[in-house]
Amino acid sequence: MTTLKLTSSKKAYEPTVETDQEERKGLLSGADDVEGPSDHWKAELSVQTDSQQRGWSQRKILCTASGLIALIVTGVFARILLLNPPHAEHPNLLFHGEGVRSNGTHDFRRTVLIVSIDGLRADYLDRGLTPHLLDISKQGLRAKALVPIFPTLTFPNHWALMTGLYAESHGIVGNNFWDPVSQEEFHYNRISSAWNPAWWRGEPMWETAGKAGIITANLMWPGPPRTMSGATATHFVPWKDKVPLEDKLDQLIQWVDLPFEERPQLLMAYEPSLDQAGHSAGPMSALVNKTLTQVDVFAKDLHTALQARNLSDIVDVVFVSDHGMTDTSHPELIYMDDILGDAGYKSIEHEDGWPAMGLRFAANANVSHNLELLQTAAAASNGKFAVYTHETMPDRWHFTGSERIAPIYVVPEIGYVLTSKTEGDVGMSKGSHGYDNKAPQMHAMFVAHGPFSAVVKVLHQARGGRSLVRRFLTRPNKGWHSTADDTYVMDPFENVQIYSLVMRLLGIDAVAPTNGTAAFWDKYF
Ligand SMILES: [Zn+2]
Repeated sequence: MTTLKLTSSKKAYEPTVETDQEERKGLLSGADDVEGPSDHWKAELSVQTDSQQRGWSQRKILCTASGLIALIVTGVFARILLLNPPHAEHPNLLFHGEGVRSNGTHDFRRTVLIVSIDGLRADYLDRGLTPHLLDISKQGLRAKALVPIFPTLTFPNHWALMTGLYAESHGIVGNNFWDPVSQEEFHYNRISSAWNPAWWRGEPMWETAGKAGIITANLMWPGPPRTMSGATATHFVPWKDKVPLEDKLDQLIQWVDLPFEERPQLLMAYEPSLDQAGHSAGPMSALVNKTLTQVDVFAKDLHTALQARNLSDIVDVVFVSDHGMTDTSHPELIYMDDILGDAGYKSIEHEDGWPAMGLRFAANANVSHNLELLQTAAAASNGKFAVYTHETMPDRWHFTGSERIAPIYVVPEIGYVLTSKTEGDVGMSKGSHGYDNKAPQMHAMFVAHGPFSAVVKVLHQARGGRSLVRRFLTRPNKGWHSTADDTYVMDPFENVQIYSLVMRLLGIDAVAPTNGTAAFWDKYF
């Protein structure tokens, strides 16, 4: 397989004399031309004695000048070559858009399959229970973590993954929240709101792909079947609980096996069982471990099915999750009615989200007094929770620019839960998410394999700081490293970058604006 051929040689990372020499040769003009100017310098040095008698001859001035120019030009070319190595023409980079590749029996267009495993916490992959996902990541690459948007909840994050937007831009600011403009409440589990396109702002990747004439297939990805502009995925299977993973695999492979004219190039799939296990039994539970194993086998089966069709150089598979999970089996409870007093607590008209809580008080309530009570309690809590307004919300959350975001947000730290004396911890799940996206427990997964990861590895090798010359001439290789066993591990990155990754893989230029960094993937292509 190309991926392995390109990357499996461990030798490539050991800075031996040979490789350094090869790299010097790799500089081609670099190494050779540097000799030229240095000859000139030698020449100049030897003439120096003459010049003591005769001053600077015209020839010497010319020599020096041409030497300097050669040196500068060589340096510039060497730098250009190193920053844009010849590997940038890797055949996989040219395979997108109208390009067609055969798997031996059938023609395929470049295809992307993105699979979300709800609630797969980044460090679940370190439990020794996911040999297949790790094997896939070893053939491809993974990130230390995929950082969810705030709030670290399912619907805001699945829509961020689809649109590349923070919650303030895509409008899904919680799993449940009040919209003061429409005077309606969004509820993720009510068809009346979850399927109403008016709630869902931004352009999901399947809409952009559709505009580019690409066939898409959506298997239960959280979100609406239709956007405000009327766009739909070509194939759509609506959400249904307890669908066995084998059935999902069958559906995905059925799509892959469709005739060329009907076959989707962008497939999205969603699996909730691990999140459900995390909520009901907690992230450290046997149930989570068991479900993790099942999800891992699903990843292997999917991988095997694609390999059996010789599609490893055609289909990029991107496994992601939306957020992590933290143990809330024995949380410390923070009583909101204690803080606000009965009257203050009762004057809360809308309570958005959980465990972080957006508060909207009734029109006749003393809002500034309530805010002061909350802020005083937060200050005295020793960091157990914080209270924010749009003015004080941490910038890194990008969580102010929407009328749907409640004016006051109470955000507990991991280990703490907001409740009231009457509610207590009744019905509280053993695992939760929705906390600060900075907390490692909230971090999600990114594992990718396919033609994309093959290119990344080649570029990494080309740009890796293996020789002294390269270390001086190239930009520092930020954003990834390879481990001892050749697994490529990217530094944590935000999930709003995923939209543009998929667009680049599909070769779509006419993309929607996102909150991702424009050049984020440049260094990987
Ligand atoms: Zn989720």
